Amino acid sequence: MSEKIVIAGAGHAAGQVAVSLRQGGFSGTITMVGEEAYLPYQRPPLSKAYLAGEMELDRLLIRQQKFYDEHDVDVRLSTRVESIDAANRTVTSGGGEVLSYDWLVIATGSHVRRVSIPGSDLAGVHYLRTIDDVRAMQPDFQPGKNLIIIGAGYIGLEVAAVAIKRGLRVTVREMADRVMNRVVCPEVSAFFERVHREAGVDIRCNRNPNSELLGDGHVSALRAADGTEFPADMVCIGVGVLPTTDIAEAAGIKCDDGVLVDEFCRTGDPHILAVGDCTNHPNSLLGRRLRLESVHNAQEQAKTAAATICGQPKPYAQVPWFWSDQYDLKLQIVGLTGEHDQVVLRGDPDERSFAAFYLAGDRLIAVDAINRPREFMLSKKLIAQGARFDPEILGDTSLDFKELATAALAA
Ligand SMILES: Cc1cc2nc3c(=O)[nH]c(=O)nc-3n(C[C@H](O)[C@H](O)[C@H](O)COP(=O)(O)OP(=O)(O)OC[C@H]3O[C@@H](n4cnc5c(N)ncnc54)[C@H](O)[C@@H]3O)c2cc1C
Repeated sequence: MSEKIVIAGAGHAAGQVAVSLRQGGFSGTITMVGEEAYLPYQRPPLSKAYLAGEMELDRLLIRQQKFYDEHDVDVRLSTRVESIDAANRTVTSGGGEVLSYDWLVIATGSHVRRVSIPGSDLAGVHYLRTIDDVRAMQPDFQPGKNLIIIGAGYIGLEVAAVAIKRGLRVTVREMADRVMNRVVCPEVSAFFERVHREAGVDIRCNRNPNSELLGDGHVSALRAADGTEFPADMVCIGVGVLPTTDIAEAAGIKCDDGVLVDEFCRTGDPHILAVGDCTNHPNSLLGRRLRLESVHNAQEQAKTAAATICGQPKPYAQVPWFWSDQYDLKLQIVGLTGEHDQVVLRGDPDERSFAAFYLAGDRLIAVDAINRPREFMLSKKLIAQGARFDPEILGDTSLDFKELATAALAA
């Protein structure tokens, strides 16, 4: 194959596309164009070990420069893909360079949702998506400082856990009535709220989002909608992300809450694929389209796209999974909630080890496992196979879960 591949973006999915193409025997040229100044890296540690100062930058990288050199992958960093000319199969980069392609892979990921409350442009107000964002936080991220986190999603809570350990005074403000309300059931939310409170984090749910940030150049306080003021040396906003579809949309590629792709990662243009956070894709296991923000999806879609290019197409069909680390707790989530009508708990929250099983009728559709790797691993398989359980038997902790799982898989 002497084809030319251009990858727009140099994040997790882009890095995996390059790796999988070479592993799949692709011998043409690969050019990866990324607007950040870093080789493809893992973002999860940004709100965990890297923020805590427990991980070196080198270890964030998915592959070192040597790998790209040895595998003849031309990585252009600090360079944006400005536009795609689908008719002529070219992209134009920030420097005005025009790159032609046989296949373009759009791997532009997602970007943070910004809030537009008064004062949100003050110094000391941060979002967390990139290595540079973590670096910008460090001067204020110091013991004794007042940190206000807006948004109690997994990133906000991970930052809270690291910050309280570092000795900051931490307040989390959430608009919804409970933490992580988009992803976990009330029982799991209540457990995490309790753990954070016990660690010293001031968690405030049901907060009116119409607050205001005050300060003279640098943020110094948050004034809530009821007029109460809270001191703030730093504010961290984590209210979700949006798919980065600007260059795709401008090129006329169909987007609807993400770049629309099929199960082979193909867009409506026969020479353009898309992978990772920026896509909206079908999942035959779940019977619907969805957009995911997870490393697993970025990696697996990248492998699918590489297989499509290498002429060995294999449809993407994965049960989504995700994790979050807070204190000594590893929360692992598999499947998607929403269509459940019942949640069955196994284990004991007081022992910081339990799992919540989401059932739609008697079918298992999702699991939140807290320090329960075995339940998590088995549940991936159970959900993929549409396993069914009697809720009473599932909730009976005198019965071994592995035996229950084996029986359900055999049924
Ligand atoms: C703090 C944090 C913690 C996370 N924790 C977890 C976790 O615990 N578990 C988990 O599964 N997932 C986690 N995620 C999500 C996970 O990191 C993402 O799902 C994953 O990075 C998606 O990979 P991607 O390659 O699709 O997108 P990205 O990693 O966002 O990469 C896209 C890249 O493309 C670049 N780009 C965009 N437009 C252009 C353009 N026009 N030209 C050139 N470059 C462009 C962007 O700057 C970016 O570098 C976390 C994310 C963050 C931010």
